[in-house]
Amino acid sequence: MFSPEDLERYSRQILLPKVGGRGQARLGRMRVAIVGAGGLGSPAAIYLASGGVGHITIIDSDRVESSNLHRQVIHGEQDIGRWKVDSAADRIRELNPSVTCEPLRLRLSEENARETLRGHDVVIEGSDNLETKFLVNDACYFERIPLVWGGILRFEGQVSVVLPGESACYRCLFRELPPPGSAPTCQQAGVLGPLAGLVGTLQAAEAIKRGLGIGTALCNQILSIDLLSGRFRTVPMPRSPTCPLCGKEPVIEAVETTT
Ligand SMILES: [Zn+2]
Repeated sequence: MFSPEDLERYSRQILLPKVGGRGQARLGRMRVAIVGAGGLGSPAAIYLASGGVGHITIIDSDRVESSNLHRQVIHGEQDIGRWKVDSAADRIRELNPSVTCEPLRLRLSEENARETLRGHDVVIEGSDNLETKFLVNDACYFERIPLVWGGILRFEGQVSVVLPGESACYRCLFRELPPPGSAPTCQQAGVLGPLAGLVGTLQAAEAIKRGLGIGTALCNQILSIDLLSGRFRTVPMPRSPTCPLCGKEPVIEAVETTT
């Protein structure tokens, strides 16, 4: 049952025929983990919290820096120097006090990834490094947790959903962690602020769809955004029978950071 305040707060969402009071209540019971309180995690957390997702775990090991602020919109000037998870948790509580926010100041590793993500209904991967993206893909696969991954660089972004064991995983496409330094990062190549907002918001939308059990998940395809041309494209990404993780003869049997 909703309080009169909650009915008012979520009224425009409850109005939707595919949501209703039942859908809103489902969101209230939903647990989402967001990996990275940065460019993607910021808008994702803001929309999940505002929309009434009941439990948000936010995982990050960095402090807020001035150079984050043009795209990491959950943090403000006054947060510079604070741990990102603390700054993000304060903002989430401010946006919606009925949301339980669990800030975890840690970097996911092969030792802690599965245990940390276990028990969540959806994981949103918004880290800034490929090592974590592979790690989270593998941990979600073994834990059978739906994963919404996103990536941004310069003016281009990608979003996709993995339903472990059912749809293509991150490794179906990217296979193995490339050698260190071989892929450019936002720190080296730059990124346009609104791109983070777009991709992180799409990730939140996919998580909410999953929580409500509505629509079609953005799986077996990548939504690719090119801000310079203003084009959105969906590129098919079929499951690979030779995927080292979810293929017919998998070689990855545990979460490891070296592969
Ligand atoms: Zn795969």
